[in-house]
Amino acid sequence: MTIPRTGRPAPEGAPTSLTRPLTGVLTALLAITALTAAAGCTAISHGDSGADDDVVQSPSAEGDEGPLSGQTIVIDPGHNGGNADAAGEINESVPAGPNKKACDTVGATSADGYPEHEFTWEFARDLRTALEADGATVILTRPDNEGVGPCINERAEIGNDADADAAISIHADGADSEGRGFHVIAPGEVEGYTEDIVEPSRRLAEDVRAEIRDGTDQPYADYIGEEGLDVRTDLGGLNLSAVPKIFLEVGNLGNAEDAELLQDQEWRQQTAEAVAAGKSRFLLGE
Ligand SMILES: [Zn+2]
Repeated sequence: MTIPRTGRPAPEGAPTSLTRPLTGVLTALLAITALTAAAGCTAISHGDSGADDDVVQSPSAEGDEGPLSGQTIVIDPGHNGGNADAAGEINESVPAGPNKKACDTVGATSADGYPEHEFTWEFARDLRTALEADGATVILTRPDNEGVGPCINERAEIGNDADADAAISIHADGADSEGRGFHVIAPGEVEGYTEDIVEPSRRLAEDVRAEIRDGTDQPYADYIGEEGLDVRTDLGGLNLSAVPKIFLEVGNLGNAEDAELLQDQEWRQQTAEAVAAGKSRFLLGE
């Protein structure tokens, strides 16, 4: 809202950088992520951290130490590696809110053959590592990149069943080659479905957007949304969520520059750390 349209990061320490109280640990984490470089699939078309080891003395995968101890975060890596060979299953209609949609889709692919499902899986693992290092309990919606689905309604259900404090669905776009950059998708109001999550999801979206902007070089998407933020009412994964949830399109696989970044392991880790910082900002900011 107050973010400059140009999307360039504010200088470190600028008054816009942090407006909510943060713990010392988180501040250190943010400072680290701010040093990193950085990171948008429309869901329709289908995109090792531990940076605070010095702060959190015993990084644990158990989720029992660190500023996010006690927080449960669901990460949904969009699509799945086996979807392309399971057209019958993934084309089946499932509940998506007021309407039905396909169970899942194959996802985007870059011109040089890098598939969105592989990106989302790799990125989700990096994000999990970063969040677990801060003590969060992390649940992924699929165990590997070899299976089919789960369907979009089931992906939402996993977050609901876990009573997650926040959920995020990871994607990379498959838009025209001219457009690049990231965008966050927040749920719009859908009567009878999203009223309870619109406001907290918006805050989550803005916090994640701010940390990607400040902690990476990835620009706001220049082909969709507004200043890196889009609001949609057609995504089953959002409409069916009972917990604060966003979609993140980390980049555009249809664009050569973005596609190269999305395939870079170090870039993915740095960007995942920025997303983790955004999650932390949301979870600790209240
Ligand atoms: Zn996608």
